[in-house]
Amino acid sequence: MDEAPAVAASGGSNHWLERIVRRTGRDAPALQEDFLGYLYKRLGRSLTAEPFYQFRAFAYTLADRLMLDWQRTWNAYHGTARRKAFFVSMEFLIGRSLGNALLNLGVEEDGRRALEELGQALDRLEAVEPDAGLGNGGLGRLAACMLDSCATQRLPVLGYGLRYNYGMFRQIIRDGWQIEEPDHWLKNGAFPWETPRPEYTRTVRFGGRTHHYVDPHTGWLYVHWDHDEEVQAVPYDVPIPGYRNGYVATLRLWSSSASEEFNLSKFNEGDYYEAVDAKNAAENITLVLYPNDASESGKELRLRQHYFLASASAQDVVQQWVAANGPDFKRFAEFHVFQINDTHPSFIVPELMRIFIDEYHLGWEEAWGIVTHCVAYTNHTLLPEALETWPAAMVQRVLPRVYEIIAEIDRRFALLVHAKWPNEPERHERMAILSADGQVRMAHLAVVGSFSVNGVSALHGKLLVSTVLRDHAELWPQKFHAKTNGVTPRRWIARCNPQLRALLDEALGPAWITDASQLHALEDCAEQAEFRRRWHEIKRHNKERLAERVLRTTGIEFSPDALFDVQVKRIHEYKRQLLNVLHVIHLYDRIKRGDAADWTPRCVLFAGKAAPGYAMAKKIVKLINDVARIVALDPDVGSLLKVAFLPDYDVSILECIAPAAELSEQIPTIGKEASGTGNMKLMMNGALTIGTLDGANLEIYEAVGSEAFFAFGLSVEEANALRARYDPQRLIAEDEDLRRALALLESGHFNPFDPRLYDDVLAALKNPQDPWLVLADFRAYAEAQCCAAQTYRDTERWTRLSIRNTARSGIFSVDRTVREYNETVWHLHPVEVEGGTAR
Ligand SMILES: *Cc1c(COP(=O)(O)O)cnc(C)c1O
Repeated sequence: MDEAPAVAASGGSNHWLERIVRRTGRDAPALQEDFLGYLYKRLGRSLTAEPFYQFRAFAYTLADRLMLDWQRTWNAYHGTARRKAFFVSMEFLIGRSLGNALLNLGVEEDGRRALEELGQALDRLEAVEPDAGLGNGGLGRLAACMLDSCATQRLPVLGYGLRYNYGMFRQIIRDGWQIEEPDHWLKNGAFPWETPRPEYTRTVRFGGRTHHYVDPHTGWLYVHWDHDEEVQAVPYDVPIPGYRNGYVATLRLWSSSASEEFNLSKFNEGDYYEAVDAKNAAENITLVLYPNDASESGKELRLRQHYFLASASAQDVVQQWVAANGPDFKRFAEFHVFQINDTHPSFIVPELMRIFIDEYHLGWEEAWGIVTHCVAYTNHTLLPEALETWPAAMVQRVLPRVYEIIAEIDRRFALLVHAKWPNEPERHERMAILSADGQVRMAHLAVVGSFSVNGVSALHGKLLVSTVLRDHAELWPQKFHAKTNGVTPRRWIARCNPQLRALLDEALGPAWITDASQLHALEDCAEQAEFRRRWHEIKRHNKERLAERVLRTTGIEFSPDALFDVQVKRIHEYKRQLLNVLHVIHLYDRIKRGDAADWTPRCVLFAGKAAPGYAMAKKIVKLINDVARIVALDPDVGSLLKVAFLPDYDVSILECIAPAAELSEQIPTIGKEASGTGNMKLMMNGALTIGTLDGANLEIYEAVGSEAFFAFGLSVEEANALRARYDPQRLIAEDEDLRRALALLESGHFNPFDPRLYDDVLAALKNPQDPWLVLADFRAYAEAQCCAAQTYRDTERWTRLSIRNTARSGIFSVDRTVREYNETVWHLHPVEVEGGTAR
């Protein structure tokens, strides 16, 4: 196999390889020796240097251990003919890797001891690792959780993504407003885990024109893409360790780089400046992650990013197949499946067609038969603004050959649709890939080119086939299904909540970490007073830790005696942070008007980034901060109510918040949140949910029951019926609490220096066209909040329900999700790794 690294190819029988393995021990002395070696010899620093250097030295130490398992895995993965899956995603929201490596290698204790003996605190090292933020939110984090699970289940799955030089922007709050700063996460070697593999560089082409010609000898029609720009895709591989099983999967991230030859011709023409300029343009492709969650299209650079990922990944897979099997593709579909994470990578479909037809001269039918048997598509959203389209003219200009292929796919698909529904021109237009108004509809391309299309929760799956993809589902009902998302218990319990993990280990034994269904046994523990006391104590400890962080970063004091009520996620109107703020204003108003008997003190925490171009979301951030400030300064409020906005939400901050959360706010407009995964992370850590029965919330509700989930809000049908006659003014007139809360906001109480500041927010709330129906759910939400507050006052009862949440969170482990994908879509067999160092 061409991919096998030389060292590992010689196998474990070689005595010098054995020597390397022996010298790469996992006990404290071996870790310590390598750590010191890296610190002094490679980095030229000492034990008193800045923690950043010690982090790097320790990361190299762990990366060495991963590397040996990684090579073995790579050899086993490639060694025999096996079916493989490729998880293709524009985003992988990885977060930090050091703690995860320690956990999955099984060297947490030895690692800690190795450092302690040198006077180094592991926590301090961990804290300086930059958060690898190659994603916006849920979709990117799902990709990271899925890979963690694939590695843990030893499934032959490789991730393909982009190596953005700048990840998700850093959010700074200044005077209540969000300010964005670039996230140069790679600077100064801050990501020591990756390894470049320049030998597998692929070339991606753009622009130019196509020439069609007939081969005079064979009479075949050929197409030549006379491109005018080419960019190199250089892979950087990131190890994804499975949980203590000696298996290390690969995440291959493509980095764009200027093509040497291209530069040469320009240089030779003496056009030095233009050559360098072109180099910049090429390297720009993977320069920066687009920071919009759930909408972004129309930008040419974004289009280039999408095609760059699809083309480099498709070429990588096909070229490896050809290297091993020659250009015979009869069994290609049997051995490969591409799982595309939302529509962004759907250029995989026309790109595979292009490679098979133009480069290997397969006929259309044969190529199409292969492609449509190896691409599977996961839809992530029903929001119309997020259903990606590209102007056809732009695709034609930037990717002329790819556009021709899309047009041909569309033409042939139209024949199929016409044959089935001969007299329904409206349906034909609804289903087309190329719309009448000149757009390429990527979701339709993905559906037509895939053998499997899935939603990410049971409800989302149903809504997909009854709304946005209804026609396609009528044509191909068997393609459609739902796979409820999940999260990894390794990061989202074991790493982030070490005390809870210890308690679970003690009560259940250690197997729950890879078999979360075992958490069910906690239900019995919930009946023991002593167990509940310990559960409560752990939550309290985690609340204290979070309170310190909130105080340090915002100056607002959270009391660990209060109910910790958290809404942490991207700021978006559909997620309805506004509904939460309105309720907070209502609570504040109650305190001010003396209606605070039997009060449950509450700390309301918000965190999340707003897309930089999304003015309303940024205004909501400002409003939360303004309300937080006024509430904190008001002497009448004291500790009855606190509000804080924790800036720069990312994976690491959530690792601090999730263990401390008691009430999890999952309150989107019904029908808008495809799944949610934040809801699962908080539930696993024992939070009770207050929420609408949207996305996976519905499944959480079904799992824990109505006592442990404060459900409220309209159903999908009710919301649809309401839209035609939505009358916010009447709701306001009929609800004194709502009227007062809005009046307080209108009065400029929270924004005395800029009294018109929230006019647009108020107008949006009162708009009969408000798509998010915020006021429609206010009363029901306030009542559910009352119920939550009441329940919280009975600590024993709350603790029981908290334990129940964790006990029943097993189905939201991503291991269950991955098993389902594997059983119905991927059909992969676990890889046996020879000589693996499983612990
Ligand atoms: C899990 C996660 C999300 C998704 O949260 P939702 O509440 O499902 O929107 C977003 N960002 C980060 C950093 C996450 O870890």
